[in-house]
Parts: sequence; structure tokens; C-alpha cells
Amino acid sequence: MRDNKPPGKAAAPDETALQVRLYALGLQACGRKVDPASLAFLQDSSVVGADVPGPDTARATARSYIQGINGGEFPAKPGPFCSRCDYGAICCWRAG
Ligand code: SF4
Repeated sequence: MRDNKPPGKAAAPDETALQVRLYALGLQACGRKVDPASLAFLQDSSVVGADVPGPDTARATARSYIQGINGGEFPAKPGPFCSRCDYGAICCWRAG
């Protein structure tokens, strides 16, 4: 499985790890084998491998995020992505 990241909006591998893992979880639920997984950053034509954890790990991570959102716990995480974020113009936590 390969997730292509277009120029301009590309995120770092660690920023997209959960996204790739959830894609893998969905494919695994459909009976598809997902190994290996990778991210292709189209801006510089680089390809980076992405670990595909077991379904329980990805599911637990997603459940943790969902519980946090449902509980109103979603603190801002300003960082390098802020410079590419669509909400940067109105976000009071924007880094930089
Ligand atoms: S600009 Fe705000 S919403 Fe966007 S990534 Fe940064 S902290 Fe998050």
C-alpha cells in the first residue's frame, strides 16, 4: 500500500503514521494483506517505508483519539505542520 502525498500539503512520515495505519486496518478488515506500506512524497520524489502495526494497535490508537474528541480533549499541537495548515490564518495556537 502506498499513500501519495502531493506537493505543498505533504506531511512528515511521523505526522501521517496514524493515517496510513488506519488505511491498513481498513484493508486488512477487507481481507487484504498490507505489507509493506509506504509514503511517497511527490515534492521530492522520495518514498519512505511505514510500519504497519497489528490491527489491535491501530484500532486502540484510533479509539484513544475518538475518546479524546468525544470527551472534549483535543489540545492544540502547534508545530512544523502549522506553516502548511489550512486553519493557520485563524488559529491562535499557530506556531511561528
Ligand atoms: S495552525 Fe493551529 S490548527 Fe493548524 S496545525 Fe497549527 S495549531 Fe493545529
